[in-house]
Amino acid sequence: MTTTTTTDTSVRDRIAEEIRKRQRFVLSSHVRPDGDAIGSQLAMAFALRHLGKTVRVVNCDMPPSPMLVFPGVAEIEVAQRVDDPGDAVIIMECGDFARTGVAGLDRGFVINIDHHLGNTMYGALNWFDASAAACGEMVFDLIQKLGVPLTPEIATHTYVAILTDTGSFHYSSISSRTFDICRQCVEAGLDPPAVARSIFDSNNLGRLKLFGAVLSRMELDASGRLATVWVDRALARNCGGTYEDTEGLINLPLTVKEIQAVVFFKEQGPDDWRISMRSKGEIDVNSVATEFGGGGHKNAAGCSATGTFAELTALFRKKITEQIDKVSAGV
Ligand code: 5GP
Ligand code: MN
Repeated sequence: MTTTTTTDTSVRDRIAEEIRKRQRFVLSSHVRPDGDAIGSQLAMAFALRHLGKTVRVVNCDMPPSPMLVFPGVAEIEVAQRVDDPGDAVIIMECGDFARTGVAGLDRGFVINIDHHLGNTMYGALNWFDASAAACGEMVFDLIQKLGVPLTPEIATHTYVAILTDTGSFHYSSISSRTFDICRQCVEAGLDPPAVARSIFDSNNLGRLKLFGAVLSRMELDASGRLATVWVDRALARNCGGTYEDTEGLINLPLTVKEIQAVVFFKEQGPDDWRISMRSKGEIDVNSVATEFGGGGHKNAAGCSATGTFAELTALFRKKITEQIDKVSAGV
């Protein structure tokens, strides 16, 4: 897939104009919201409230529990439908409208702000920038355009979005802009070690045991470049953990020098799987995810698939190996 990037700031400026004109906002993001989803939404919510706007933040699923310590996160509404879409609905960090999982948003004036490749441009206004390392970078830009000062709350959420969506500053999407924004956040009073401790060092023991159990049955392909890991409900239960506790696990195999990509299978039901993929450098796992109706980014993507574990592992290993070979061959 080619990377289409809207560096043209006219859409951003139109969005700022529409925001100034309107009063009541509903902010949403994708199902199973991650740090970028929550960070982008909350940075925007605090900025809009600073402008005197009325804001509701509505997601289909609960925020990740380590994020509950950050300002405003506990007030996020979890609902599968909204009856009143306000004067505008701002959807951030969501490539496809259906991925909000919230019904009724389509009746509003929809503003789509996102950085996922393959965004379906579902809004009345669509601002898409695949070069942004996190959607939070785009939100930061818009907040500046709106003339809102960088408060500690906005700085915290912007930084959470960037820290989590870059895989702790690992992915190739990072740019000088990423660090420039982080610098401004630190100058506004953000405390990076405190944020890192809240996100990465606040886990329960069940999670650590689950990591151990899942990693101990990791499989490597013959070349040692592709790791496969998987989890089912029984394993999670036996370790005293939950599926939510596997967040971040997928990144660990990549700490091995030779491992170039990881695929992680989570059993949802009989022959029903959620699949997450991660890769290094130019290896494109997004193209594999999109073949199965999912999406994401070059180095981090996901999808759902049905089939037996044996069938699906064989299929995904083949597809990801093709991507690894492409890069090794310099194609
Ligand atoms: P994760 O593997 O952490 O669930 O997701 C990695 C990246 O891929 C995130 O940017 C996420 O939004 C995206 N992603 C994961 N699953 C899907 C999916 O089913 N559809 C789409 N469009 N994107 C996904
Ligand atoms: Mn993101």
